[in-house]
Amino acid sequence: MMMMNSESPELNGAITSAIGVLDLQGGVSEHIDHLERLGIRGIRVKKADDFQNLAGLILPGGESTCMSRLLSIFNLDEMIERHFRRGMKIWGTCAGAILLASSVVGESPCLRLIDIEIERNSFGSQMDSFTRKAHIPGMMSEAASLTFIRAPKIKKVGPDVSILLQIDDYIAAAESPEILVTIFHPELTGCLDFHRYFTRKCHLKPRNELKTTIDPSWNNTSWTRLARIGRG
Ligand code: GLN
Repeated sequence: MMMMNSESPELNGAITSAIGVLDLQGGVSEHIDHLERLGIRGIRVKKADDFQNLAGLILPGGESTCMSRLLSIFNLDEMIERHFRRGMKIWGTCAGAILLASSVVGESPCLRLIDIEIERNSFGSQMDSFTRKAHIPGMMSEAASLTFIRAPKIKKVGPDVSILLQIDDYIAAAESPEILVTIFHPELTGCLDFHRYFTRKCHLKPRNELKTTIDPSWNNTSWTRLARIGRG
């Protein structure tokens, strides 16, 4: 059973208690599932009305060109900017991080809400997707396997952006006070730490019963169970 958060923060007078997941294309249900495991209401966001009461918004992985076109066709780019200005926090996973970047190598940026330079498909084709084990102290309680699907590389961050995870020549996770970006997909594993971290960034309280990095009751129902991307 899902437990709702009783201590919802107020943003410009509105009580916010939920986290939205942009539902135009890409991995939406996996994020909603992770939020619900933490006792947070996850809302599918498709239209202007869906933004009300959101403390945070997740831009999922998928295909950034497709999402950026749909954002502009439905004027949802303006809605994201408006609610970002009223205090809504945003987390972009993979394609979502590309949408948020101020600079995209060789292409026009979309929302430009975080000062990072990102390069699309920087590891190669879909066949070059992989998993890799990593640990971010203060964010993850233990090392866990991270899933990179035709991922971009964050090449540089601006002065107001902190690097959370650097691997080899690329930055895999970074944040500003308002925005989190990861080039991997915690929603495609049983790892709840990143959703817990983002929930706290949104000033919501995740359910505390489960303190481990990996939720033992999680089962992979996504397409990645059929993919040969290793186990980190
Ligand atoms: N390759 C995709 C893009 O450039 C991102 C892939 C993903 O979100 N896993 O939009």
